[in-house]
Amino acid sequence: MSLLIYMKHGRRKGSLVPEDEARISVFDHGVLYGDGIFEGIRAYNGKVFRVDEHIERLWDSAKAVYLDIPMAKDEMKKAIQETLKANNLKDSYIRLIVTRGKGPMGLDPSKCVDPCVVVITTTIAMYPEEQYRKGLEIITATTLRNHPAALDPRIKSLNYLNNILAKIEAENAGVLEAIMLNTEGLVAECTGDNLFVVVDGVLCTPTGVSGILKGVTRGVVMELAQKLRIDVREVCLSRYDVYTADECFLTGTGAEIIAVVKVDGRPIGNGKPGTITMKLLREFRKLTKSGK
Ligand code: PMP
Repeated sequence: MSLLIYMKHGRRKGSLVPEDEARISVFDHGVLYGDGIFEGIRAYNGKVFRVDEHIERLWDSAKAVYLDIPMAKDEMKKAIQETLKANNLKDSYIRLIVTRGKGPMGLDPSKCVDPCVVVITTTIAMYPEEQYRKGLEIITATTLRNHPAALDPRIKSLNYLNNILAKIEAENAGVLEAIMLNTEGLVAECTGDNLFVVVDGVLCTPTGVSGILKGVTRGVVMELAQKLRIDVREVCLSRYDVYTADECFLTGTGAEIIAVVKVDGRPIGNGKPGTITMKLLREFRKLTKSGK
């Protein structure tokens, strides 16, 4: 199936183009230097899930890297709707990309005049349904998460090599995900997901300054937990805390909520997806189905 992609160059009017004709210059600094930002969003039954949070994060990423998104937030939301409609998609994975734009060789971003905006709407099935019942085995990568003073992981930039290197370590170890530690040796997150543990009924997740992307799904899970009267804490987590936790799970737009049952060869809890994890997954799916 060929998709229609929304593209906009600088302040010029955006338009929908067939995917084979959706082009970015090889001189775009997004291509030359990974100079740009992105978002991954889901639509469930025609409703874009937590669109405002994702748009806010995109604008925050832009601000952090001095990138001027050449449209208003409302226009971006309209572009998403238009692209979903054009592709006749109700359940979709939406990718927003803003690149620095075309410029001469050399890092200087001030020479790039027209940032390029791309909206892709497609489908995604991150893990087969069976994986949600079985849970994941993961390892700890030796590649550390970027130091926030170098490139803050809260910026969702087009530089994903840090995470990709850790992902390759996971693949080499025969598993699907890897924990990334921060430069203090504490748990930050996984390559494309945030991490939670349950200890004595309390839900714990690394703080925003642990070197993580502040996941939208992470925020939703914290809200759901509060509604279910589960105590939630943002903490510093070591690998020991993960190994000895009663439950562990990952959250992300693509993965939603998925249990972790083994970390570095150690079974977590009884080695099966935990009850709080599965309860949160059920509640999360109820929420996405409800259109709220
Ligand atoms: N951490 C990283 C590094 C990510 O790339 C993502 C998004 N895939 C997440 C966490 C989860 O964030 P969200 O819940 O907003 O998708």
